[in-house]
Amino acid sequence: MNHPETTVIPARKGIAFEVRRGSRLKIINTHGSQVLDTWAFALDDMKEYMSMEHTRSSTSRIIPATGDTYVSNLFTPMLTVIEDTSPGIHDTLMCCCSRKTYERLKYEGYHDNCNDNFHAALAGVGRQSAFTPGPLNLFMNFPVSGAGVITREPPVSRPGDHVLFDVKADLLMVISACPQDIQTVNGVGKMPTEAAFQILN
Ligand SMILES: [Zn+2]
Repeated sequence: MNHPETTVIPARKGIAFEVRRGSRLKIINTHGSQVLDTWAFALDDMKEYMSMEHTRSSTSRIIPATGDTYVSNLFTPMLTVIEDTSPGIHDTLMCCCSRKTYERLKYEGYHDNCNDNFHAALAGVGRQSAFTPGPLNLFMNFPVSGAGVITREPPVSRPGDHVLFDVKADLLMVISACPQDIQTVNGVGKMPTEAAFQILN
């Protein structure tokens, strides 16, 4: 196999790209504690998107495990987890951060946010979505207690950890390197970093 090309996801920014059925997609936490808000759409239909609620309904898990498949709002298989070198802690419950998030945190002025990154990345490839689907928050560590209480902890992933997906449909992917630097979402240093991905054919 040829050496796969590595594409950097810049710190605080979003990126959109196509992946084809039969490829594998490796998403890499280069520095170890960067949360990556991740979306997928059917390449030929922006109304069909990777759905966290359909995936939870399909897998009966809050965090899909290795071997589980993320599905669309029509239950179409999109991404199957085939390898996860991190401790497997991700989030499927929380919305992405937005301008309102930082207003609620009393941040003054404009703050980069995953919602704007999502729409900007789509615009950059000539696409648009009328809304923002709930993201797969890769590497985000917001554990849920038995009583249903969600706490906000720094990621437990390590530098170089990756999640490898088997791509089950032709997809338009969007990934935002979350710019949250007020809480410890992206680690105790509150320092958003770049990350990377590879498409393996
Ligand atoms: Zn974010």
